[in-house]
Amino acid sequence: MEYKNETIAIEGSWNLASWEWKFESIALIRKTFEAMKNERKLMANKCPGCGRVYFLPKPYCLCLSIPDEWVEIKDTATVTTYTFTGAWAYEGIADDEVSGTPQIFAGVVFDGSDTKTVTMLEGIEPEKVHVGMRVKLKWPEEVAGGLTDLAHCVPLEE
Ligand SMILES: [Zn+2]
Repeated sequence: MEYKNETIAIEGSWNLASWEWKFESIALIRKTFEAMKNERKLMANKCPGCGRVYFLPKPYCLCLSIPDEWVEIKDTATVTTYTFTGAWAYEGIADDEVSGTPQIFAGVVFDGSDTKTVTMLEGIEPEKVHVGMRVKLKWPEEVAGGLTDLAHCVPLEE
């Protein structure tokens, strides 16, 4: 087999919505979003083959089984990775209101699930964040039933 070390571009218009698996994913995620909005619950799906719990839910597991059992997971989580921006990142890009406010982006694993969710951490200085840190979802006052509901976590005081 011949390998080429170059980037190729394929011109054209791509209709990603035509992919069937996209529709399956959307139906599962919609069910999760409805549970968030109507019951303030985080619902994930569990694989019967290996026991992995997916949040957000997935139509297929890494072991190729179909995760078909719905389980409720907790809104507490553990930080597994993080990064943050500083004022220097916005210099010359954003207005003064944004600059100087560090944004902390974290990959967290909600208790009861096995997969990461990307969120932002609030209520803590970036220097104090660490892998293994315990956090809790900051539910918005009005739950919209979408990804924005998962956008913020705060330190968990145990
Ligand atoms: Zn599996």
